[in-house]
Amino acid sequence: MRKYSFPILILAIFETVAVSLWLTKDNLFYLFNFSYIGLSISLGCFLFIRKYKHARRLVQLLVGLYMLVYLGLICGENMQIEGFWYYLFTGVFEAATIHYAVAKIFGPLIFGRGWCGYACWTAMVLDFLPYKTPKGERKKIGWIRYFTFALSLVFVASLFLAKVGNIERIMFWAFIIGNVLYYAVGIILAFAFKDNRAFCKYICPITVFLKPMSYFSFVRVNCDKEKCIACGKCKRVCPMEVDVTDNSRNRKNGTECILCMECVNSCPKHAL
Ligand code: SF4
Ligand code: SF4
Ligand code: SF4
Repeated sequence: MRKYSFPILILAIFETVAVSLWLTKDNLFYLFNFSYIGLSISLGCFLFIRKYKHARRLVQLLVGLYMLVYLGLICGENMQIEGFWYYLFTGVFEAATIHYAVAKIFGPLIFGRGWCGYACWTAMVLDFLPYKTPKGERKKIGWIRYFTFALSLVFVASLFLAKVGNIERIMFWAFIIGNVLYYAVGIILAFAFKDNRAFCKYICPITVFLKPMSYFSFVRVNCDKEKCIACGKCKRVCPMEVDVTDNSRNRKNGTECILCMECVNSCPKHAL
């Protein structure tokens, strides 16, 4: 049973959040929402331990589709970064603010960029593309993320400053148009740079939160130097070009690790 302690821990964390929010906000939705996400993720971890090849992709689809289709399209919640700014400005601690606090701001202190590996509905589609590992040199255009981050903030702030009516409706359409743009740009970049995760590396505004917080992540892949034979296989299969054999927090592209476990699965010496 000890090997299943991680999925049990994940489930316990999510259930704690689910029950706490249900009771404090007197809203059954939070119990359902966080229980569903926690169950999906711990199911994925369980299947991973059982060596099921598509465990991560299954979780990505279960969580990503739920958030995109149910929360976004059916419930009309803008779970993009614009929705986060919107709820923040209105002072409402609801859907998008809670989602960002748990998955993208404070959660990464525990599970790093697990969101990017197991839940993001943008990457859920990008990961179907053919370039699972980058085929070219990394580009020095990561600054674009700060531009898209600022753009999203200015967009929502302008709506408030201009006292535009029915911002909630605008947020719904911003969610639809924003997602179409993310998918279009993500797919074009993936083919242009021969790298499925190019959008994550250069454009995604959410990484402005994710990268600094995941630097301190409790959960991370470490290398047992005693076992490692420096074959380099782990680096060749990494979609995010992380120098995973370096155990320091400053390792190359360390804040990009999405905990996909491709390196762990490929290591011939079980050193990771
Ligand atoms: S970097 Fe952005 S687009 Fe990529 S997986 Fe993370 S949140 Fe999704
Ligand atoms: S795949 Fe394993 S043995 Fe090879 S370099 Fe990576 S950690 Fe070391
Ligand atoms: S292959 Fe390893 S180092 Fe690279 S992103 Fe996945 S878990 Fe992180």
